[in-house]
Amino acid sequence: MPYRSPSRRLRSIGVSLLVATVGVTISLGALGAPATADGAWPPPAVVIDAVVRDISAAQIDRLVRMLAAFGTRHTLSDATGGTRGIGAARHWLRSEFERCSRDSGGRLVVSEDAFVAGPQERIPVPTRVVNVIATLPGEKAASRDRIYVVSGHYDSRNSDALDGAGDAPGADDDASGTAVVLATACAMAKHHFGSTLVFMTVAGEEQGLIGATHWASEARRRGLDVAGMFTNDIVGSSRADDGSIEKGRVRLFAEGLPARATLSEQLQTLIGTGGENDSPTRELARFVRAVAASHVPSFTVDVVYRRDRYLRGGDHIPFLDAGYAALRFTEAHEDFRHQHQNVRMEGGVQYGDLVQFVDPEYTASVARVNAAALAALALGPAAPRNVMIETLKLENDTTLRWDPNSDPDVAGYRVRYRHTTAPDWEGARDVGNVARVTLPGLSKDDFLFGVEAVDRDGNESVASYPYPYVAPR
Ligand SMILES: [Zn+2]
Repeated sequence: MPYRSPSRRLRSIGVSLLVATVGVTISLGALGAPATADGAWPPPAVVIDAVVRDISAAQIDRLVRMLAAFGTRHTLSDATGGTRGIGAARHWLRSEFERCSRDSGGRLVVSEDAFVAGPQERIPVPTRVVNVIATLPGEKAASRDRIYVVSGHYDSRNSDALDGAGDAPGADDDASGTAVVLATACAMAKHHFGSTLVFMTVAGEEQGLIGATHWASEARRRGLDVAGMFTNDIVGSSRADDGSIEKGRVRLFAEGLPARATLSEQLQTLIGTGGENDSPTRELARFVRAVAASHVPSFTVDVVYRRDRYLRGGDHIPFLDAGYAALRFTEAHEDFRHQHQNVRMEGGVQYGDLVQFVDPEYTASVARVNAAALAALALGPAAPRNVMIETLKLENDTTLRWDPNSDPDVAGYRVRYRHTTAPDWEGARDVGNVARVTLPGLSKDDFLFGVEAVDRDGNESVASYPYPYVAPR
């Protein structure tokens, strides 16, 4: 076995989790192909606009119809293959990812993350659960260990959470989110990114977030740097239950502080300095909304300051619980007659999660937002670390400091600020390639701050919240 330096070994551990369960091994040498022969990267707007343009409603329509046609994709349904049940759906998903991998010159690596769950609540007998995963390895040495995850769940259910036999077409919940992940993977695999992208279609969501929990807890155990995660769950319909239609808006659920009985010292400091709206998840949500506004201007990302809707949960939650920044996309208006319902007519009303209630153009817009945000994240530098606000004496200016970013192409830093009552940034100052800056006239007592890294191509990072700096004793 050849010698590998610790950093290469760490990288290999990370990659092996991503492709673990089917015995695929990636040659590390194959990961490092630069985007161009001289190592130069195209302008970020060119790449982002290309992936956005590549996603079509026709493509989403085909994917949602194919998924719904498996009859049921319940986690307890037929796993053996054929044309009906979760096994058939899984084989098809794999073949779709593999087709896109061929179009990418084989850079998109398809794998399965398989394990046995149960017996437990909603899994009465031990059941094999399989996440189908496609990984696009990052190509910048300094950022390929930084991972962004996008997910949708391909399992479905009807009125009975344990019914693995009856019809459960799951067109909106969550063929729509699965189609977003597939379409995004195929569009992005044609391009090159610095950080690693993980496109994840998971099972067991309806049985208790089982597939996502498995992957997220393994990632935490192995110390993977998951710098951001989005789940897409119920992103298919533009029609509200009163019949009104809104095609131009998606909700993005973004937790502030975790509802834990005990708070870490870091969370206590966040609250103590008025930063309860500046958790890493909220900073990620601000970034996504800003990228969407620039690159998918006809479509609004409506950030909701809440972990999830009442009585509902999703696959971002295991990532939040593992300590990662994680968000949930869900359509603006839900019609609960079309979710978790047996397909039936009742009182002249059609119940069931049927293809006819999905609006492919709407879902394509959600996919474009995902692709734009993921591209901006994976092209850009890491968020600055150890960002601090000096609080050594009483003064009316603000001095910030941070660790220099390890990305060699970082060209400088941008300080964003806003009033404490404002939801989004109101101003920005480019402060050059420094690790400490004083901002005269901006009182740390009156504003909230965030520091972003900016690279020479103009890619910017997510903002980091400054914690109080106390002089070393
Ligand atoms: Zn769902």
